Amino acid sequence: MYVRFNVVKWLGDFVLEAAGELGEGLTCVVGPNGSGKTTLLKILAGLLKPDRGLVEHVGVKVKVYVGELYVPPDAAAVEVALAGRSRFSPTPVGRADVEAARRYMRLLEVEDLAERRWKTLSGGQRQRVVIAAALAAEADLLLLDEPLAHLHGDWRGRVMRILADYAAGRGVVVTTHHGDVLRCCHTLIALREGKMAWRGDPQQYAEPLDRACD
Ligand code: ADP
Repeated sequence: MYVRFNVVKWLGDFVLEAAGELGEGLTCVVGPNGSGKTTLLKILAGLLKPDRGLVEHVGVKVKVYVGELYVPPDAAAVEVALAGRSRFSPTPVGRADVEAARRYMRLLEVEDLAERRWKTLSGGQRQRVVIAAALAAEADLLLLDEPLAHLHGDWRGRVMRILADYAAGRGVVVTTHHGDVLRCCHTLIALREGKMAWRGDPQQYAEPLDRACD
């Protein structure tokens, strides 16, 4: 699969201007708060329409964006993972979906929390359930907004390695503030004030990472 984009989007005084291609593998989008990361992901997901330009998806049947999720406090963790299986729409799911949701929960080491209510989980546990849900969607293009939020150092690296493996044969794009995990990505896009300041191999990224990230 690949995605080609060349877009302009105005949001009040802010202007996002971005062009490029995304292939299979894990792409990280970095940049200070307000640099346009979420806007770019939503445009790539088709959730926001660009004011100018277009996004061309080739070989992408299913694309899923996962940002902050509202979860009813009494929902069980497994129901959240199952929401990913129905691609976050209220489609009924079957037995095979329950097994798939549990398989991704196992990968994120939250299967033992399956029946626990959302309100009883820690921030890191919730985040891993949300990532399991996102992976369970098995989209061709998965756009994850700040998936490392609320995770501790060890889990940040583990999640990035899981995402890098998962991205074989599909496109996974994540936004992050954590410079220490960028070497897990295959491609890095750095945004600054709505412009693409840099795009390429993260190993070649010349700017100090703490300037690229908050
Ligand atoms: P990031 O994800 O890098 O923090 P965003 O894409 O969320 O950045 O936001 C980029 C800019 O667009 C910010 O200045 C933000 O305030 C502005 N913005 C986002 N959504 C809207 C909106 N609906 N209306 C007006 N401005 C917006």
